Amino acid sequence: MTERRVRVRFAPSPTGALHIGGVRTALYNYLFARQHGGDLIFRIEDTDSHRFVPGAEEYILESFKWLGIHFDEGVSFGGEHGPYRQSERRDIYKKYVKVLLDADKAYVAFDTPQELEAKRAEMPNFQYDASTRMQMRNSLTLSPDEVNRLMAEGKQYVVRFKIEPNEDVHVHDLIRGDVVINSSVLDDKVLYKSADELPTYHLANIVDDHLMEVSHVIRGEEWLPSAPLHVLLYRAFGWEDTMPAFAHLPLLLKPEGNGKLSKRDGDRLGFPVFPLEWHDPKTGEVSSGYREAGYLPEAVINFLALLGWNPGNDQEIMSMDDLVRLFDLGHCSKAGAKFDYKKGIWFNHEYILMKPDAEIAALFKPVLQEHGIEPGQYTDEYLTRVVSLVKGRVNFVKEIWEQARFFFVAPDSYAEKDVKKRWGADTPRIMGELMDILRNLSDFASKPSEEVVIGWITDKGYHMGNVMNAFRLAVVGECRGPHMFDITELLGREETLARIQRAVEVLGDRG
Ligand code: GLU
Repeated sequence: MTERRVRVRFAPSPTGALHIGGVRTALYNYLFARQHGGDLIFRIEDTDSHRFVPGAEEYILESFKWLGIHFDEGVSFGGEHGPYRQSERRDIYKKYVKVLLDADKAYVAFDTPQELEAKRAEMPNFQYDASTRMQMRNSLTLSPDEVNRLMAEGKQYVVRFKIEPNEDVHVHDLIRGDVVINSSVLDDKVLYKSADELPTYHLANIVDDHLMEVSHVIRGEEWLPSAPLHVLLYRAFGWEDTMPAFAHLPLLLKPEGNGKLSKRDGDRLGFPVFPLEWHDPKTGEVSSGYREAGYLPEAVINFLALLGWNPGNDQEIMSMDDLVRLFDLGHCSKAGAKFDYKKGIWFNHEYILMKPDAEIAALFKPVLQEHGIEPGQYTDEYLTRVVSLVKGRVNFVKEIWEQARFFFVAPDSYAEKDVKKRWGADTPRIMGELMDILRNLSDFASKPSEEVVIGWITDKGYHMGNVMNAFRLAVVGECRGPHMFDITELLGREETLARIQRAVEVLGDRG
């Protein structure tokens, strides 16, 4: 048998914001497709019109654009297997529903919601299946004439899958191995509803995977219970030879590890569960997103890749190219993956460190603007230097402001406890001497000025810590920040002198 071309798909239902678990599913599909030189399809599964949320499809597409996950075909990407939006494929599904009906693998059922309700009241564990279907109103119990009459009258009906009982159904899962379930536990699933002339998820999903020549179905664990039914559907259609391989990814668990990750965990602990900020059109509720919270897309990708998979060693930092090379469904875990959001923050820190300073500086410009500073006043070189001095101290680009404020505004007050500790009676006099030294420096760059200033403090026998901290207090406003002479080099001589002068005026002799 010739190797089949790898074709995978990400098939969200546009029912709201894309959950971070869905992003991981899409990522694994992407890595798998890239690695095998295959195709990744973007299909919209919108057959449940009641759950349709406007804007969701656009949101999902924008999320992947931001994250750098590219699709080869599908909604908005084109391709030869379209249309890729299920609501535009009604005629295709109708044709396949008929195939099953004609082959006696499915039947038409007219039971109204009230009748089903009554049946459930009568039989507590009622399930519409081989053991009960002959007691119901369907094409197996009604005469063909009656069925035709009801249909002609426009009575609403559903098409149900006729599942043969007492048969072991095997799902071969690339992560979980052989999963066996007895067909008797399955109910005769609704495949099609006349009310909206649309198939249900199960039928549309199988027909599309078949017609789109999908080779592997990689999806979340929550779909594992549907898999036996899907296997039976492939068989009913006679498509077992081209049935895709299944891989059900481990669940994402709460950070504490007990139970499924939910939006509430994010609200409770302060982390996003959506890639982008989401404005719910129905409730008006706004939910935070990784992009708006200040995560770099590369960091989010790296973080998500390791939730349920590892490269087989303890390597943690991996670019998308590394991941494409290393990813392996065989190394995915069966057990759920704890959503360690703090690890996500750590990845962001690491990616800020790894990225060129100039790139971070560009991302910092809007932050400056938010704080009322026009970035255009500064050269890119200046901003890049500022970033290089403080980025080791931040997890998010927006935190650079907190660390670098004094590079943009002179202190208007001085940290009280530092003043108490470092500003004494003779500090103004010593600062006066320091200003003379700085004024006369032939080279104001970090290294040479450090040498001269340290030499002067030593020669005079001054207290190194007190003088340097008073100096820092005057320039920064408090006793913290990067290397002092890197700061003064960047601020320049004039600004440095002006700040010391001002501190002397404001603080005077506090002794
Ligand atoms: N429409 C389903 C979803 O929302 C697709 C599940 C599958 O991949 O089969 O995730």
